[in-house]
Amino acid sequence: MIFESSVMNLNIVSALAYLSFKELDAVPFIRHGFSTRLGGVSKNEFNSLNMAFGRGDSDENVNENFKRLCSAVGVDYESLVASSQDHNTFVRKVTKAERGIGIYRPKDMQSVDGLITNESGVSLVTYYADCTPLMFVDTKTKAIGSAHAGWRGTVGKIGGEVIRKMKEEFGSSPEDIIVTIGPAISKCCYEVDEPVAVQFENLGLDSKKIVFPKDDGKFMIDLLETNKQIVMGEGVPESNITISDICTKCNCDLVWSHRATQGKRGGMCAILSVV
Ligand SMILES: [Zn+2]
Repeated sequence: MIFESSVMNLNIVSALAYLSFKELDAVPFIRHGFSTRLGGVSKNEFNSLNMAFGRGDSDENVNENFKRLCSAVGVDYESLVASSQDHNTFVRKVTKAERGIGIYRPKDMQSVDGLITNESGVSLVTYYADCTPLMFVDTKTKAIGSAHAGWRGTVGKIGGEVIRKMKEEFGSSPEDIIVTIGPAISKCCYEVDEPVAVQFENLGLDSKKIVFPKDDGKFMIDLLETNKQIVMGEGVPESNITISDICTKCNCDLVWSHRATQGKRGGMCAILSVV
């Protein structure tokens, strides 16, 4: 496995591998990371770092994987709060009172694809296997956000929703917010049919940079560029935005890719926390 990235680091701690953005590694008041497939206890199709509950792996294994990932990233397992994703655009504000939800306490809500907080000791957990992770860090108010943007969430502009909610709840200004996009399935590998491509063309964005027609009638889509244009539309300066150069399908030996495995797979998570 060869890892090459100009914007991300591959960190290995006690045989567990996780990815991080160089841009966010430089922010002293946060911890963050994206799990890989390497360094967990799960077996068979979940081998070995599976962060997804409910796909057939035991909860015991997934919890152990979370404990190992937390220890590597430098956050407290007790501080985790998970999303409840279903490709919608609802963003939930969470606090210390919600710690454990979706991990060691039952889910209490459906349809939460984005999480925000401004409390330290609350770690936001979102899940992926090709869909686009979005992270938001307000360097002034120290508020954070994390959101799952698959094609439906992207077309629904969940990235814009996170920024609006951070403004409303924490008084954030878009020019203070650092945004990272990915790692996700990228334009080299993300092929869709016309009905999906049309939805991207109709977003009112610069679709020449987003939708690429192929000779066979299908289309390649750049989900990461789409999300970048969406957050810029909310006032985030381009210089605050970093896009991952790690395609999940191209790197399916390192990270979980739904398309590369035809769905027979474990899952990754992103963790973002204020120290
Ligand atoms: Zn690719």
